[in-house]
Amino acid sequence: MKNWTSMGWAAGLLLAILLGMNTAQAQGKKCVVVWSEGTAPKNVYPQDINGAVAEGLAALKDWEVVKADISQPEQGLPDALLNRCNVLIWWGHKRHDEVSDALVAKIVKRVKEDGMGFISLHSSHFAKANKALMGTACSWGAYKADSKTLDVTVKSPDHPIAKGVKNFTIKHSERYSEPYAIPEPQSVVFEGVHNLKKRGEDPSRIGLCWEVGKGRFFYFQAGHETNPVYYDANVQLILRNAVEWAGPQPK
Ligand code: ZN
Repeated sequence: MKNWTSMGWAAGLLLAILLGMNTAQAQGKKCVVVWSEGTAPKNVYPQDINGAVAEGLAALKDWEVVKADISQPEQGLPDALLNRCNVLIWWGHKRHDEVSDALVAKIVKRVKEDGMGFISLHSSHFAKANKALMGTACSWGAYKADSKTLDVTVKSPDHPIAKGVKNFTIKHSERYSEPYAIPEPQSVVFEGVHNLKKRGEDPSRIGLCWEVGKGRFFYFQAGHETNPVYYDANVQLILRNAVEWAGPQPK
């Protein structure tokens, strides 16, 4: 009986591959796409930011992790990929304007109407899709490259994105100051304090959640491209938790 079951499974897998699905799809894995624009310094992020983030997500069971970037055909998100993507993680900074409006409209539709999760990192607060999903200016009060470290505090310990996360400190040389022009978040999971090179500190919200239409949205403020933030074990845990939270939920 057991042999028949495994033979059936193998035959199904073979059929799925013949039908053009990849192995991960055929195994029923969920799909997270990590997108970035290729502008991070190579000495900090040799595989760019999507490479570092994808490395941290590799420990996720039941998820296929796909890297995408702006230089690929369809800016990395052809319909076939976008339509099976369960969570899209976005890091952009200098090339927001190059992202096509048609692609942004498709992303917004996938989130609001189909429930695709969206995770926006650091300078992606000004990404077109981020602004379209929030419906506000998404500007911070100030951006100053005068900080040394960022102390991250777990504000909502019962939130799924905070699972297993303890307060931690990372090197972070760019602070974003409140106020952040966004709709009122449904949860503030993490807060933080930027410690300045000279004396003083600047507190701001670090990890924020919303529901946008049928989709879940998480913004994580830390992640300046000259700091190796996405190799930090705490940040990698937060992003794994965020993918699980933003992805399809058990019915
Ligand atoms: Zn930055």
